[in-house]
Amino acid sequence: MDLVPPAIRRLSRLFLLVSLSLAASAQTTAPAMNAKAAAECDKHPLYAYDNGPNGQSTWCGVCNNSAERHFQAPINIPEGKPNPALPAIRFTGYNQPTPLKTTLENPNNLKLYTPVRPPSIEIYGLGKYDLEEFHFHRPSEEAVNNHRYPMVIHLVHKKAGCVTGQCAVVISVLVEQGQPTAKTSAVLKVLFERFPPPAADGGTPIEIDGLLPADHQNAGYYSFPGSLTTPPCTEGITFFVLKTPIKFSPAEIEEFARRYPLPNARDIQELNGRTVENR
Ligand SMILES: [Zn+2]
Repeated sequence: MDLVPPAIRRLSRLFLLVSLSLAASAQTTAPAMNAKAAAECDKHPLYAYDNGPNGQSTWCGVCNNSAERHFQAPINIPEGKPNPALPAIRFTGYNQPTPLKTTLENPNNLKLYTPVRPPSIEIYGLGKYDLEEFHFHRPSEEAVNNHRYPMVIHLVHKKAGCVTGQCAVVISVLVEQGQPTAKTSAVLKVLFERFPPPAADGGTPIEIDGLLPADHQNAGYYSFPGSLTTPPCTEGITFFVLKTPIKFSPAEIEEFARRYPLPNARDIQELNGRTVENR
C-alpha cells in the first residue's frame, strides 16, 4: 500500500523529473562543468548588480552560459491555487540559542555561518537539511505576482553527505516594513554588532526563529527548482519561499542600507517551463 499522499508524490516526482532532466543534460559533464565554472569564477571574484564592468551580464560560470542555464533564480512567482496536501516544513532547533561562526566580510551582503550543530529542517519526501549559512538581499530577489518585497532572507540548508540530487534547499523569508516582533529585533541587534566582522567565532548566541514568521511550523510556501543567485549560479537548488513575511522596522532596513548601500538582488530569470508548487 502506498501511504504517500498524492500531492507529496507529485512534489517528489517534480523534484525527480527536475533532477533527472538536469542530470540528463549534464550527466557526464556536471563535475567537470562545476569545476570549470568554479575555476572561471575564481578568476573573477568581483561581481556587481549594476550595468558596469562587473555587472550581471558579465557574471561567470552558469549565470550567462546559455548551454548550461536551465532553471535559474530568482523568478517571479505566479499566484496560483494552494494545495494544502503538500508537506509541511518542520523546523528543529531554530528556537535554541545558537552561536554563530564566522561572518563573511564581502561587499555584497550580510552573511552569517552557523556552527557545528546547527538548526535543521525536515521536509517529508525530501529529507533532513542542516542550516549552513544565511544572508540578506535588499530588495527581495523573488517577486510574488510581480511584487518585490523590501528585503528577503535566504537560509541555505544542505543535506549531510549528499553528493547528487536534492542536496541544497533555500528557505526564503520575505521581509516587509512594519512593526517587528521583539524577538526579530533582538536577533538583528546581535547581527548588526557583528559588522565589521568580529575576529573570533561565537559571540552572543541568537534564536534564529526570530527571523521566521510565527506560522513557520505550518507555513504556506511556494516551491520551485532554482540556482545560486550569485556566480557561479549553480543549479540543482530547491527554493521554499514562505508566504507569510516577517517585519523589519524602517530603522532596521536603514541599517542594512547603511552597511550595503547598493541593491543586491539579481534580475528576475525566466521560468523556462518550471512548475511552482504552492502550499
Ligand atoms: Zn541569496
